[in-house]
Amino acid sequence: MPQLPGLVKGLGVTFRTMLKPNVTVQYPHVKEEPTPRARGVIALKEENCTACMLCARECPDWCIYIEGHKYLAPPRREGGSPRQKNALDRFDIDYALCMYCGICVEVCPFEALFWSPEFEYGEHRIADLLHDKERLGEWMKTVPDFEAYEAGSEMKPKKVPR
Ligand code: SF4
Ligand code: SF4
Repeated sequence: MPQLPGLVKGLGVTFRTMLKPNVTVQYPHVKEEPTPRARGVIALKEENCTACMLCARECPDWCIYIEGHKYLAPPRREGGSPRQKNALDRFDIDYALCMYCGICVEVCPFEALFWSPEFEYGEHRIADLLHDKERLGEWMKTVPDFEAYEAGSEMKPKKVPR
C-alpha cells in the first residue's frame, strides 16, 4: 500500500480545512464592503472637464470617446477679448473594454475623473456597459472624500536657485 501515507495526509488536510471558519462571502446575498480607494468605476465631474482629450489619448484601450465644440466666452474684464473655450458634448467610457489601469484618472490635469468603489453595474447586454457623461456624472455621488495626506508626505516646495 504505497499510496496510504499520501491518502492519510490528504484526508488530514481536508479535515483541517473543514474545521476552519468559512471565509467565502455568499455574494449577492452577503456583500463585502470594498476598500474606499478600490477601483470600481470612474466618475466624471463634468464641470471640470475641458474636453482636452488627454485622457482619451493616453487610454491604452481606446475606450474613452469624447466630442466637444469651441465657443467664445465673454472676456474676463471690460474691454478684453472674448475667450475661446471648449464645451463637452459627449464623454463615454466603454467598460466592456476598460482594464481599470487608472491612467485616465492620473493624467487628467483638471481633476475631472475620480475612482469610485462602486462595482455593481453589470449588464445583460455588453453594449449597455457604455456609460455616457450623465451616468458617469452620477457616480460622483459615490466617490469617497479626499483623505488628508499623512504627516510628512506632502510635496515640499522646490528651492529655486538664485
Ligand atoms: S482606466 Fe485605463 S483602460 Fe479604463 S478608461 Fe481609464 S485609461 Fe482607459
Ligand atoms: S476628463 Fe480630464 S483629461 Fe479627459 S478630456 Fe476632460 S479634462 Fe481632459
